[in-house]
Amino acid sequence: MCVRSCFQSSCLQWAWRTAFLKHIQRRHQGSHRWTHLGGSTYRAVIFDMGGVLIPSPGRVAAEWEVQNRIPSGTILKALMEGGENGPWMRFMRAEITAEGFLREFGRLCSEMSKTSVPVDSFFSLLTSERVAKQFPVMTEAITQIRAKGLQTAVLSNNFYLPNQKSFLPLDRKQFDVVVESCVEGICKPDPRIYKLCLERLGLQPSESIFLDDLGPNVKAAASLGIHTIKVNDPETAVKELEALLGFTLRLGVPNTQPVRKTMEIPKDSLKKYLKDLLGIQTTGPLELLQFDHGQSNPTYYISLANRDLVLRKKPPGTLLPSAHAIEREFSVVGTPFYVMEYCPGLIYKDPSLPGLEPSHRRAIYTAMNTVLCKIHSVDPQAVGLEDYGKQGAYIPRQVRTWVKQYRASETSTIPAMERLIEWLPLHLPHQQRTTLVHGDFRLDNLVFHPEKPEVLAVLDWELSTLGDPLIDVAYSCLAHYLPSSFPVLRGFNDCDLTQLGIPAAEEYFRMYCLQMGLPPTENWNFYMAFSFFRLAAILQGVYWRSLTGQASSAHAEQTGKLTEFVSNLAWDFAVKEGFRVFKEMPFKNPLTRSCHTWARSQSQWYPIGTRSYSSVPEASPAHASRGGLVISPESLSPPVRELYHRLKRFMEQHVYPAEPELQSHQASAARWSPSPLIEDLKEKAKAEGLWNLFLPLEADPEKKYGAGLTNVEYAHLCELMGTSLYAPEICNCSAPDTGNMELLVRYGTEAQKARWLMPLLEGKARSCFAMTEPQVASSDATNIEASIREEDSFYVINGHKWWITGILDPRCQLCVFMGKTDPHAPRHRQQSVLLVPMDTPGIKIIRPLTVYGLEDAPGGHGEVRFEHVHVPKENMVLGPGRGFEIAQGRLGPGRIHHCMRLIGFSERALALMKARVKSRVAFGKPLVEQGTVLADIAQSRVEIEQARLLVLRAAHVMDLAGNKAAALDIAMIKMVAPSMASRVIDRAIQAFGAAGLSSDYPLAQFFTWARALRFADGPDEVHRATVAKLELKHRI
Ligand SMILES: Cc1cc2nc3c(=O)[nH]c(=O)nc-3n(C[C@H](O)[C@H](O)[C@H](O)COP(=O)(O)OP(=O)(O)OC[C@H]3O[C@@H](n4cnc5c(N)ncnc54)[C@H](O)[C@@H]3O)c2cc1C
Repeated sequence: MCVRSCFQSSCLQWAWRTAFLKHIQRRHQGSHRWTHLGGSTYRAVIFDMGGVLIPSPGRVAAEWEVQNRIPSGTILKALMEGGENGPWMRFMRAEITAEGFLREFGRLCSEMSKTSVPVDSFFSLLTSERVAKQFPVMTEAITQIRAKGLQTAVLSNNFYLPNQKSFLPLDRKQFDVVVESCVEGICKPDPRIYKLCLERLGLQPSESIFLDDLGPNVKAAASLGIHTIKVNDPETAVKELEALLGFTLRLGVPNTQPVRKTMEIPKDSLKKYLKDLLGIQTTGPLELLQFDHGQSNPTYYISLANRDLVLRKKPPGTLLPSAHAIEREFSVVGTPFYVMEYCPGLIYKDPSLPGLEPSHRRAIYTAMNTVLCKIHSVDPQAVGLEDYGKQGAYIPRQVRTWVKQYRASETSTIPAMERLIEWLPLHLPHQQRTTLVHGDFRLDNLVFHPEKPEVLAVLDWELSTLGDPLIDVAYSCLAHYLPSSFPVLRGFNDCDLTQLGIPAAEEYFRMYCLQMGLPPTENWNFYMAFSFFRLAAILQGVYWRSLTGQASSAHAEQTGKLTEFVSNLAWDFAVKEGFRVFKEMPFKNPLTRSCHTWARSQSQWYPIGTRSYSSVPEASPAHASRGGLVISPESLSPPVRELYHRLKRFMEQHVYPAEPELQSHQASAARWSPSPLIEDLKEKAKAEGLWNLFLPLEADPEKKYGAGLTNVEYAHLCELMGTSLYAPEICNCSAPDTGNMELLVRYGTEAQKARWLMPLLEGKARSCFAMTEPQVASSDATNIEASIREEDSFYVINGHKWWITGILDPRCQLCVFMGKTDPHAPRHRQQSVLLVPMDTPGIKIIRPLTVYGLEDAPGGHGEVRFEHVHVPKENMVLGPGRGFEIAQGRLGPGRIHHCMRLIGFSERALALMKARVKSRVAFGKPLVEQGTVLADIAQSRVEIEQARLLVLRAAHVMDLAGNKAAALDIAMIKMVAPSMASRVIDRAIQAFGAAGLSSDYPLAQFFTWARALRFADGPDEVHRATVAKLELKHRI
């Protein structure tokens, strides 16, 4: 954008500013910038130190408490404790040493907060170079005050460090007098210390102004006749001081520095150009400073005559195509540029807004949200911007652009970027609206009013266009997911947002939807994935330029290396969104096949035989894994087909033969201990690579944790495992561990994964999932009542649960616990999921429950009380209020595994039935010749095939379109599979006669499980309700 156009009303900056932002008074009103008020009798300014010149201990403490999860206000309370004779004041008067103080103070804090408080770490932070830095605004003020010939002094309640030097992180040369309480043995607000200071200055009280952040200290000074300013924030205090003194205390423009050597621009030609353009008659100099943020486009402050301007230009050197879309201008400064009016105000560079009150932080984010809504509400046509960008298909174009940008600056292969480049175009959301889009909407691109939470200006418009507004919403939430140590773009994912007062990303998004009158989007994770992808591409560009020596920031090289980190964050969102494995929509006549099952009969215990499928031609790998619904194991891709056959051999050689022994262990006195045979078979399965097959490829695309099978591929293998009650555990594919492992892979932190996921994946530990409660109808998860309460650095849980499968197993080390953190939050935001180590005191198992008399030892189904169970805060999964979302994720793909296994139960039951009826004779002929038996066999075959097709279809849609899109298919198969299996198994039991009910055959156990799964996996009625709801919604 060129200078000329910038000053025309059609320019974008102008458009938005006139549309909805108000100008504020320009700071510089004339050549006499700040007129002297005259008559000032002041001869000195006296500054307190902490809270005036450097951050106050209270403010430092508040942030340290958030970081260290210490109850808020502990340090401040302890500092005040005991008043005059408390440890803090005695320390200030040097009556106790630093060591003595820390001992006493630490004890006090721990007593107050009932938790151990590492006060040493607070003290180190307080006195660290990073924190104890003089506020630049104060340094400027002191320079100006002294330049006017006034004296300056520090009057500080101060202390000695362990090295016996007083803590004074200030340049003494700035002050004529320094008075410290630890040196004098007197503390403010004792009048003697003020008098001492005045005496050393050689002044009367009325000749000085005193600044302090504490009311009692200010009051004491005022009572002596000193003019006072109570400091709440340094910026405002300097303004008050300016008003009292009558001259400016500002040296220059905030956030600027002298122009860097490599970024210099020719002042003379610029001055001539601006004079011509703006019609300025001046012989005065052109003042030029460089803003200290902005990685890509160098930005300058210009002061010429009475005009304060900002110039933004493209960086020098070769540029990536279409990057830095600043319109071309004559070569006045070497590269294209534009100029705009300077708008003074505050820019918050740290998004955690240190030093502000929680309510103020919230107000800042609310204002940010509001201004975004205003931008998105601008009618492009009404402001003449209808041609500002192409209509529609914004996201696909953005994806293409940023892929191109990334490719142009690529320096090495980054796996997550490669996956995203494939994933993004396959998961494009349907664009709902086209509005003006800022394109780089972040807190540090907003200029705020210095005194109220109001946005005065929005900066950095060069990525603006017409497009999908949700991009801006997602982009403004990046900081929520980045750590505070992240260079370039600081985040706050390691801070407690509730304590800070900053709305969580979801709340921020809800605020936006509410203001815009929109329903929440379903593709939020796509927008986040894309935003992080774009950030990664930007960082890569910065890195690339640093390699070619053109970066406008010294940090460029370091920041560019962060591409990989950010791309992994992007990929996490892609995984949450879901994953469509296949490239093309399939349905190439996938449903034609004939099959004959259990071809060979062996014993009644061992099923036996082959499910061979003859009609589907030999699959090509492409067909098998890239589109067609694979309804037969023989149509799987060669490696998966080989895996299937390996599993089949394993079942025949090891699992079915072990069943009698495993079954009798379950009926023995030793049943509550794991069977040694199971452990032995687990090792064998591991050795054969038949281990952790369950984790879907979409959740584990790099096969870090499992075999990387698609849902359809796993459906075939899971069905096969389902033909034995023991195989799932032997192959480490059994519930509830599978759901819990998937939960950890999808949502766990690296620390949580290291602690829990790894032992589970290795089969060394087991786990349980505790949601159901006896006192409430738990099929509606919002009913659950168990409480999760915050207490210091812990969550304390109390609740009564039952039907907790696996909790009795001595190997069970982890309980994934669902409870309510906030019963007053919206219905689906009340629940949270905590990882509870099973050896935590307070977990009391009341009894094992039985299912039709079966105990399912050694895991069992337990009734349990959780009484004041203290769990460290870091064991929370995803964050408070995310439980419902997690439970849905956990119970999504994981739960169709039960359906896959139910097909296996049914196949096994039918095989047993066929073998039985062929071998038994009644009323003169084999049972198999009885018409009713034949009808039963036919009925079972048909029902199994129907259900299998539905299972495979659900798995297929999950692979193709993601779990969310498969909601109807998942609900349909959950509705169908358990009752289908119950009927098929029941027919088999009937054909067996009394033996079918005995434990000589697996039928009774199969039946029990199939029956239980009619509600253990969510009641039939709930699935029916879902199917009906979706049917009515989408198919009218
Ligand atoms: C073998 C087994 C293992 C289990 N393992 C676990 C486990 O590991 N962890 C865990 O937390 N829980 C587990 N459960 C519990 C299971 O998840 C619950 O039983 C299930 O969610 C139903 O909750 P509820 O028993 O409280 O039934 P309720 O919610 O009281 O429902 C009772 C009945 O009400 C009817 N109903 C409910 N909703 C509707 C509706 N919308 N429309 C019409 N009718 C409706 C249904 O017929 C339902 O069966 C297990 C259960 C079994 C049997």
